[in-house]
Amino acid sequence: MINEPINIGVIGVGHLGQHHVKHYKSIENSNLVGIFDVDSNRSKEIGGKYNIRAFNNVEDLLNKVDGVSIVTPTPNHCETAKLCINHKKHVFIEKPITVTLKEADDLLRLSKEKETIIQVGHIERLNPALIALNSYQITPKFIEIHRLAPYTSRGTDVPVVLDKMIHDIDILLSLVKSPVDKIQATGLSILTDSVDIAHARIRFENSTVASIMSSRVAKDEVRKIKVFQKNLYATIDLLLGLTEVYKITDQKDNNSGADMTVPLQNGSNDKFIVYEKPNITKKDPLQMELVNFINSIKGKETPIVTGEEGRNALEVAIKIQNMIIQDIH
Ligand code: NAD
Repeated sequence: MINEPINIGVIGVGHLGQHHVKHYKSIENSNLVGIFDVDSNRSKEIGGKYNIRAFNNVEDLLNKVDGVSIVTPTPNHCETAKLCINHKKHVFIEKPITVTLKEADDLLRLSKEKETIIQVGHIERLNPALIALNSYQITPKFIEIHRLAPYTSRGTDVPVVLDKMIHDIDILLSLVKSPVDKIQATGLSILTDSVDIAHARIRFENSTVASIMSSRVAKDEVRKIKVFQKNLYATIDLLLGLTEVYKITDQKDNNSGADMTVPLQNGSNDKFIVYEKPNITKKDPLQMELVNFINSIKGKETPIVTGEEGRNALEVAIKIQNMIIQDIH
């Protein structure tokens, strides 16, 4: 275990990278050494704002750090991550890990060889509303997920499946611990030359079925998950940070802190539907991810989203994307 603060850098300080900079400055045990961005004006602006050294050369930065956040556009992730790992640096790669599966596999192989950590920024895994499900036994039979967002040009360098749906694919794979059996998918190109709306139906080998819909052509933002299983129904609003659970119990449970209890059948005291709204402590998921990365480098924790998990989410996303392309043409 490493006792000294971890020397850290941020590569790519655009819209999201600046927030990495902000958090590393306040995380205990992290020593933010500097930043690098190919846009030197942007680099100077963020360096000045946070009083951090803006490096003119990425290798100079790499020679001074233990690990880096890679927050460059997705098509650049593989090239930059390879450079960092070849310098034996631990990497936190924003999602999606890479554009192609071959790139992701190359990075995993390289990180094994160089004994470095790859963590992937599937930030929703740290959404407190999702974490609230951990106090329930979740064995889903059907899951429905919607992720809709108003259009912005950011993220359109990749199809909506790799930009937005991949968040939900990662959540899905973490909730349903079974291999994917069958995928059906459809989608449309509306505003860009790429796929802007996507729907997938995923069947897992354990017979769980999921329906996921993602769109970057919407008036209002929506990020909702519904989980159905024997004797339990949960809704998770990732945007509002609200989790609600309805479950069937044998007793009118007065000690569980349940918000509401009603008999399953009128006139019978055999079974009850209990409604619960778990208390959710608001925490910043990005800060939690980066604390986890620092602690993983220190050897105190393991990454919440590993490189393998990032790769597995990408594999499903690419299958969905390829099906949509076939469907459109
Ligand atoms: P952005 O375009 O705002 O910023 C990217 C920055 O990287 C720019 O400043 C650009 O100049 C710089 N850059 C480009 N090539 C570079 C290189 N080779 N070396 C150094 N810097 C380089 O993009 P963004 O919205 O901040 O997205 C960045 C990444 O973060 C993407 O992979 C995106 O998918 C991901 N992202 C994740 C989430 C999330 O919810 N986890 C949210 C937004 C973005």
